[in-house]
Amino acid sequence: MFTTLTAPSCGPVHNRPTDAGGVLWPGRCGKRHEPADALLGTPLDPKTYDYPGAVLFNAHAGALWARFTIYLRREIAARLGLTQKAARAVLRVSFAKVAEYQKRRLVHFHAVIRLDGPDGSTQPPPPSATVTLLADAIRAAARVSIRESARTRSGNANSPGANSSTCARSAPTWPSTPPSPPTPPAFSTAPCSAAPARDAA
Ligand SMILES: [Zn+2]
Repeated sequence: MFTTLTAPSCGPVHNRPTDAGGVLWPGRCGKRHEPADALLGTPLDPKTYDYPGAVLFNAHAGALWARFTIYLRREIAARLGLTQKAARAVLRVSFAKVAEYQKRRLVHFHAVIRLDGPDGSTQPPPPSATVTLLADAIRAAARVSIRESARTRSGNANSPGANSSTCARSAPTWPSTPPSPPTPPAFSTAPCSAAPARDAA
């Protein structure tokens, strides 16, 4: 399954929305920006943009991904009605990911997440490990991983996250784009960034 994990909004930025036919629409500022416009991805209002949150999100993106993989295995096992140890005995969860910067200079991840039998790609996963189950588990793991990391940071006055504001602390989810539908090849064509911030690279 192809999944995109994107940072929450830190505030509106100059964007360059296009419709399905590739027609350029005015961005949030009301202007149509050229593709190379240096304003793209920069805040509409630097006074209110959550710069600390943006910096903290990038600084913690690697840890956030690591937590996501831990929680995803947990969520899959729970949905199968198994302990994590029992789940490992019947299936393997594999990841391939790339990290990219969006125009707004926040890290996001594209990941291929795959389920196989315990010995790997030569074995199918158990029939109960469906695409729907995996999609549900991905959504749940993305929600939990950012909530837990926000709680950890805000609970420690010495951690940099303790001073962060809206972007890093209050967002309920990564949020991720919906996992792609169960039709091969399952690559998502959804915009990379979370609505309404259609400012992905
Ligand atoms: Zn603009």
